[in-house]
Amino acid sequence: MAGVSGLGTPWRLHAVLPRSTANGPGVRYVAWSQGCALACPGCFNPETHPAAGAGPVRTAGEVADEVLADAARIEGVTLTGGEPLEQPAAVAAFCAELRARSDLSMIVLTGFTRAEIESDPARSAAVADTDLVIAGRYNARLPLARGLRGSSNKEYWTHTGRYTADDLAAVPELEITVAADATMTFTGMAAPGGEF
Ligand code: SF4
Repeated sequence: MAGVSGLGTPWRLHAVLPRSTANGPGVRYVAWSQGCALACPGCFNPETHPAAGAGPVRTAGEVADEVLADAARIEGVTLTGGEPLEQPAAVAAFCAELRARSDLSMIVLTGFTRAEIESDPARSAAVADTDLVIAGRYNARLPLARGLRGSSNKEYWTHTGRYTADDLAAVPELEITVAADATMTFTGMAAPGGEF
């Protein structure tokens, strides 16, 4: 059987968090993509906007291998940003590899609308293997910061039915991780910079 293609595609990342409980149901690997040109007024993550940032550039296959090595201890992955669908080839290859080799769930948080994704073949391919896409621009006039939605206009677009709105509503809104060197990481919808 032919393997997944595109695993050598570079993926510009802002950051990754191997274990998180505030970015979707269960324990999840989270990858923040670097680069976003959508310019939502009031965006909380301006440092993710430049196409090149301080984060690592890795191949889709390298990230997939890292996730799969931990597959027994996580429920799935969440891809956020920045804008993950500005790098659709890397996201498509990553998700296809996880779908082929695991039962991990996949959630994508994107500023593109469902219509913008469905009308673009590359973006459509990027989310084809995912369970859930949370789609639409952040709207600062409609703040929400729960259920993985920064604003209430953002749409749940489920591909598999694996997660319900109740599952998403139960996701903690804030998580604080303290590293061995006492560095603290805040994540989740209610974290500083957490709204998407
Ligand atoms: S809210 Fe998301 S889609 Fe909008 S500018 Fe910020 S990173 Fe980009």
